[in-house]
Amino acid sequence: MAGSSVGTSGAPELRLGAFDHRDPPALDGLRACVHCGICLPQCPTYRVLGEEMDSPRGRVYLIRAAAEGRLSLTPTFTRHLDLCLGCRACESACPSGVPFGQLLEATRGQIERQASRPLGQRVWSRLLLSVFPSPRRLALLLGAARFYQRSGLQRLVRATRLLRPIRRLAALDALLPNTLPNRERTLPEMVPARGRRRGTVGLLVGCVQRLLFPRVNAESVRLLARAGYELLIPRNQGCCGAMHLHAGRIDEARSLASRLMAHFGREVDFVVTNAAGCGSAMRDYPHWLRGDPEVEAFSLKVRDIAELLAECELPLQRLDVTVTYHDACHLAHGQRVRSQPRQMLARIPGVTLVELADSELCCGSAGVYNLLQPEMADRLLTLKLECIAASGATVVATGNPGCILQIDRGCRARGLAVEVLHPVELLGRAVREEG
Ligand code: SF4
Ligand code: SF4
Repeated sequence: MAGSSVGTSGAPELRLGAFDHRDPPALDGLRACVHCGICLPQCPTYRVLGEEMDSPRGRVYLIRAAAEGRLSLTPTFTRHLDLCLGCRACESACPSGVPFGQLLEATRGQIERQASRPLGQRVWSRLLLSVFPSPRRLALLLGAARFYQRSGLQRLVRATRLLRPIRRLAALDALLPNTLPNRERTLPEMVPARGRRRGTVGLLVGCVQRLLFPRVNAESVRLLARAGYELLIPRNQGCCGAMHLHAGRIDEARSLASRLMAHFGREVDFVVTNAAGCGSAMRDYPHWLRGDPEVEAFSLKVRDIAELLAECELPLQRLDVTVTYHDACHLAHGQRVRSQPRQMLARIPGVTLVELADSELCCGSAGVYNLLQPEMADRLLTLKLECIAASGATVVATGNPGCILQIDRGCRARGLAVEVLHPVELLGRAVREEG
């Protein structure tokens, strides 16, 4: 329950049980849980471990007990919260509207500030968070990774299993795509619409997307322009703050969000993203930057690219291929976008779209979860690969760069002859340019 203690400044500091006053998890959100258990079968970690405390209901119970002062932020508490993927499958299932994603992010912020973690874990997670959401640092890392691959060092390391004892580094090595793109493609700041004009969109180029999958951004630009959208692509737009938010670094996420929003003026009709995690975070800005109508207006303009392209009639050529679709968690659960990517793909002549069993089960990627919790991520990836193999598809389409990396890594390791693509890449193959 709420109480007060004396803070470092000497002023009384309001506390909510074990939580401090900075963005504590909302009590009304916690109290909304009626313990029905409907969410349990949808939770990936519960499905793998079968432990109540690794289920959404168990985690809500733990957070509420801490908020009511019945529990402190012990290593056990932290472990159950760390193991959560933040996939929000529980939110889709919950009939009471428990805002699990926001509760988790707020609790992680508290853990970040108050709980102690082993040094190695702290250093690794800080390192990942300082590299992945920073295009400059990520470019440096990828430069080193290209040298590591092309010099033959990677082959040697893998042959000698040198990284085997260092599980997290081995996970990073395994995640590297076979062919890393040479460098980021610089996109123009403005691209005119072609044909009948539909409106103006601002494109978020993302951090991982722009460096690891520049072809996804290039196809996004080409297809949106061809569909009649003028594009504004602000330089130095920065990071949306999604990874910081998921890690509970809420103040950093807030300042990144404010910087990003300043780059997209009022003249755009939509802010478009092709990365599910970014879209989900941007739609959640009003929760973390409460009371600002400008933030609300920005968030209402956010669209996943599939939402726009599914409505457009593009001239399509035939592609004879069997495709299956994996629902990225932050697209399906975070943004409730499920039908549009499927519609977009099914419309391509010659494409046979087969449903993937358990398509909404997390693949284990979850931001940098696969590098922080590689064992659980591997177990979930195995479940995903079994469904992919059973689907008979030769292409898996999914709308998030993290999922592409994770599923591609699994397919390579298992020897599955399956191509893993973003839906716009597949659509781009069907929309060829004349001449
Ligand atoms: S966010 Fe995902 S992993 Fe976490 S409790 Fe909900 S369903 Fe389970
Ligand atoms: S479905 Fe919702 S109300 Fe039911 S146990 Fe899960 S979180 Fe609580």
